[in-house]
Amino acid sequence: MAQKRPFATNEQIEALARVYPTPFYLYDEAGIRRTAEALTSAFSWAPSFREYFAVKATPNPAIISILAEYGCGVDCSSACELLMAEALGISGEQIMFCSNDTPAGEFAHAGRLGATIILDDETHIDALLAEQGALPERVGLRFNPGGDFDFANGIFGRPEEAKFGLTEDQLLEAATRLRELGVEQIGLHALLASNTLTNEYYPALARRLFRLAVRLQAECGIRIAFVDLSGGVGIDYRPEDEPNDIAAIGAGVRRAYEEVLVPAGLDDVAIFTELGRFMTGPHALLITRVIHTKETYRNYLGVDACASNLMRPMLYGAYHHITVLGREDEPACVRYDVTGMLCENSDKLAVDRLLPRAQVGDLLAIHDVGAHGHSMGYTYNGRLRSAEVLLDADGSHRLIRRAETPLDYFATLDVLPIGSDLAALVRRSEGEPKGKPARP
Ligand SMILES: *Cc1c(COP(=O)(O)O)cnc(C)c1O
Repeated sequence: MAQKRPFATNEQIEALARVYPTPFYLYDEAGIRRTAEALTSAFSWAPSFREYFAVKATPNPAIISILAEYGCGVDCSSACELLMAEALGISGEQIMFCSNDTPAGEFAHAGRLGATIILDDETHIDALLAEQGALPERVGLRFNPGGDFDFANGIFGRPEEAKFGLTEDQLLEAATRLRELGVEQIGLHALLASNTLTNEYYPALARRLFRLAVRLQAECGIRIAFVDLSGGVGIDYRPEDEPNDIAAIGAGVRRAYEEVLVPAGLDDVAIFTELGRFMTGPHALLITRVIHTKETYRNYLGVDACASNLMRPMLYGAYHHITVLGREDEPACVRYDVTGMLCENSDKLAVDRLLPRAQVGDLLAIHDVGAHGHSMGYTYNGRLRSAEVLLDADGSHRLIRRAETPLDYFATLDVLPIGSDLAALVRRSEGEPKGKPARP
């Protein structure tokens, strides 16, 4: 079985853990750059190719700025994500706004920034018109084919159960209406599966969208400007997973392009992606320390991270590989539940995981947390979200998000009891003695 090793050495991680209190996220700049290069190269054949990084995966300006060096724009779906783009000076064609159940005012915000807007329903045409006064020259439509989205070896996903997108008939109607309202160019978008581990998902999706593009152009007489394949390309979370080959994926999309679009005279349709997980997922570790061990009906490793720092295991039963640093060569002979400290039994970062016997004080590296990791965090139980640290290619490091403090937790409470000086309370609690955790 393939081994999963942290991208940093144990010495590097131990040194970082002396600078930054655990838990913290550690991102790998070199890895992010490698993936950005591989993606760009896989789609270099495509007219006007652009990756719009799905901001929700890792909404950190440092990460977005690295990707921007490779021409990546941003895929936003909320006002705060638009504000982040705005604050970074990202605008116009570099922003894709792909929302659903869109709150009032967000189409106007996206329009002011010159974003390309993807509509999730026919009724959003009126919302867009009302908020922007006029429709932009180019509008995207999100497609939901219904049923199962399957291929020779299985199913990718079940679009029928997804809340997103328009049916094919609705999409044809919407395109006709947009043309009547003066829109000159249409784009097509679909996200029909999540975390796919096959090189066939994007090519199959592309073929489906390309056929729809040909039909739209013929029946509605409107120019198809782009096809946005969105996200959904997965990563090898488990050591036994076969990683996707982005070059093969790009080549598969190219074949579909040449077989479907080009013969129909559609040889200048731009190809866009909105990958999140694939871009940054493998390129971060959550570094956490064992603070308790416990044996009852099961064996527990209690760590100083919890679902506030990484929610995917609790939410989806997701697998994240774990390395006990310094014990790589010891046999994985103990079946552990690795738990956080939330008063919730589901707060487990791993369940039934065979690991080397670990001790209080050991550092664990939780792998592949670079997308939908920190950003999903929450503050239930008064637990705070951790810092994010970037490891540069030359081994230096920098803090790209500080850890939350109790003052952040209380920041939205305008009404505190009379006389409570929160900052003083926090200072006092921080000054309280912290004994070393007991060694077993
Ligand atoms: C979440 C999302 C993505 C990114 O998905 P990944 O699984 O991270 O690739 C892209 N586009 C849209 C519209 C999304 O909602």
